[in-house]
Amino acid sequence: MNQSHSSTLNDELDGDTLHEECGVFGVLGHPDGATLTALGLHALQHRGQEAAGIVTFDGKQFHTEKRMGLVGDHYTDPATLAKLPGFISIGHTRYSTTGEVALRNVQPLFAELEVGGIAVAHNGNFTNGLTMRRMLIADGAIFQATSDTEVVLHLIARSKQTSSSDRFIDAIRQMEGGYSMLAMTRTKLIAARDPIGIRPLVMGELDGKPIFCSETCALDIIGAKYIRDVENGEVIICEIQPDGSITIDSRKADQPKPERLCLFEYVYFARPDSVVGGRSVYTARKNMGINLAKEAPVEADVVVPVPDGGTPAALGFAQASGIPFEYGIIRNHYVGRTFIEPTQQIRAFGVKLKHSANRAMIEGKRVVLVDDSIVRGTTSLKIVQMIRDAGAKEVHIRVASPMIYFPDFYGIDTPDADKLLANQYSSLQAMCDYIGADSLEFLSIDGLYRAVGGENRDAANPQFTDHYFTGDYPTRLLDNDSTSNVRKLAVMASNG
Ligand code: AMP
Repeated sequence: MNQSHSSTLNDELDGDTLHEECGVFGVLGHPDGATLTALGLHALQHRGQEAAGIVTFDGKQFHTEKRMGLVGDHYTDPATLAKLPGFISIGHTRYSTTGEVALRNVQPLFAELEVGGIAVAHNGNFTNGLTMRRMLIADGAIFQATSDTEVVLHLIARSKQTSSSDRFIDAIRQMEGGYSMLAMTRTKLIAARDPIGIRPLVMGELDGKPIFCSETCALDIIGAKYIRDVENGEVIICEIQPDGSITIDSRKADQPKPERLCLFEYVYFARPDSVVGGRSVYTARKNMGINLAKEAPVEADVVVPVPDGGTPAALGFAQASGIPFEYGIIRNHYVGRTFIEPTQQIRAFGVKLKHSANRAMIEGKRVVLVDDSIVRGTTSLKIVQMIRDAGAKEVHIRVASPMIYFPDFYGIDTPDADKLLANQYSSLQAMCDYIGADSLEFLSIDGLYRAVGGENRDAANPQFTDHYFTGDYPTRLLDNDSTSNVRKLAVMASNG
């Protein structure tokens, strides 16, 4: 997420960003811990391309390797993997969009405590991370890094509980927001999901050894079996015993809340071959396109996906509308996700680097462009121009999710409210004129809910968290200075 949510916060934190969407992977009891972790992180690369780290324990000591850049660029080197022996391993791939990028912030973070060493890796964002940090600093704590994951280590160190797992539980129960966390000690691999399960986390198994990871695609890459999702509010503690056997202990929240997974995992973030919350991401995206074709039909000659995010929805749109699907835009796969570049100017440049028009499929045609989402509008603006330059007769945009009015505070990279395209124009037509399209339509919130879960949104108890579309934040936002503005916007939106 963007650091500009709170300039005071970032001034205080030395210009670094706190907010990140990430991938986590952990395995216990397997002799190839680091290799499996590197492969798992490689499958989760879409969740973070900035840096990756792995911590292992070999029975005597902990080993840590952290690198900036892609997993495959570093952890395929046998020399690097040789520095990571061990049968317990956790890893993290990090995504962060702004600010100084320091190796000290790369996770997993490790601390040697009187109960022994502990490493933690975190996907998500705490909404009280700054508040807790200030409290800890006032109490004498010294922070090494600016990532709020370090807050958890300090809370573990201060906990009055005796065992490392009870200390971990004690620490995370003081945190608010969206998080999926892994922790490891000398004998344990611990997995935890926030009380409403905003971020995903699944449990798998390979050769009888437990694995936890952000998405099922990280199980598939190593041929591991999916067991189940870690439940919202649940902590699972796996411990290796002296005889090599593994015990598994699940602790659930005392007062469980209904799960509200983040809808944006289905819209954009998760890999399409993953199964998130028991639902195929690919099928959900295709359904979004089918519902969009029903809600916002258009006469056209060709359906073109904005690759790669828009592809499954474009297929659904094409099948439901009967308009042929063609690859009218070719994506250069050697360029990372557009959002990884830190400034708006470079982001715009990134779009050009990434996509080029396939003139043969576009020239003289009425084109329906299908994308998964519009955030700042950078991609749409560039792509409409590109399609027109390639000779399209008409360009219609269909977006497979509703308009985004509100920033996210749970680990998805979205900018401040005023940078979101939906807040810059008072009408759909004005937005369409800015982008330069012949028409522009978005999927309705019910259309999206049906695509993912089969049912319309239950207004009294929404089945997912959808705050970026509705302003209905599922937790309080303790840290955020602009919370009152966000709430004001939410009221404005609900008043139409
Ligand atoms: P924008 O260009 O700012 O309107 O962003 C929309 C484009 O970026 C779409 O093509 C999406 O596939 C992609 N996108 C949406 N959300 C994110 C995100 N959180 N991080 C990176 N890319 C995103």
